Amino acid sequence: MPELPEVEVTRLSFADRIAQARVTGVRVGKALRWPLGYEPQLLIGRRVLGVRRRGKYLLVDLDQGLLLWHLGMSGSLRFGDERSAPTAHDHFDLDTDQGLLRLNDPRRFGAVVYAASETSPQALKLLGHLGVEPLGRDFDLKAFHHGLKHRRSAIKQVLLSGDVVVGVGNIYASEALFLAGIRPTLRADRVSRPRAEKLRTAIVDVLARAVQQGGSTLRDFSSADGQQGYFQLEANVYDRAGQPCRVCGALIRWLRQGQRSTYYCPTCQKA
Ligand SMILES: [Zn+2]
Repeated sequence: MPELPEVEVTRLSFADRIAQARVTGVRVGKALRWPLGYEPQLLIGRRVLGVRRRGKYLLVDLDQGLLLWHLGMSGSLRFGDERSAPTAHDHFDLDTDQGLLRLNDPRRFGAVVYAASETSPQALKLLGHLGVEPLGRDFDLKAFHHGLKHRRSAIKQVLLSGDVVVGVGNIYASEALFLAGIRPTLRADRVSRPRAEKLRTAIVDVLARAVQQGGSTLRDFSSADGQQGYFQLEANVYDRAGQPCRVCGALIRWLRQGQRSTYYCPTCQKA
């Protein structure tokens, strides 16, 4: 599943090249998770102002309105001059005078949604509940610790829920908790302020490193310029059950939290 780093890498791969482009055509393929909610032909002639990211959404700002793109479970974007016929899994094209932006999404959990503005009901429905951006300025200790203090669920569940801090997926949550020395099952409201600061720093480090390395959790992930992405983070705990901890040698443990696998070191993450 594309996680925040993959979405950010995708954004970086085409944001500059599509800026100022004029929309020349729109093709809507098979139904995606949500409908566009707008007459595609009305987008023609509009200018692309830029591309921002909020959580795992890409916001393509137009001179009138914006398009919210989500990659779902298996989506990827391509932007380029090539205008080959769409394949079976290409479900949305935004053609411009600077290139074609194409969504490929075999499982079709992704979507492209039009919103008149970022504060319109269509946009708020998708973006309104999102927590703070982990790579943004607002992700400070005060806000983070405050958010944790009001949650009684396990810290890992709270990270995954995205309502305190957005876009920390399973791998990144497991790795950040390891770096901070926090057991994934610890209740969020019991994370002390100093430990919250360690965790905050670890989340930023893990995500920033993944973005830097063109991060991907998907083997077939490719950013929008066709460059192959790759998951190069050397995982300390994720998917390493039964293997020795790289720090202390204890065997990494596995447990299920919610529907997701959690990995941790029983010694480095005592509580
Ligand atoms: Zn350890």
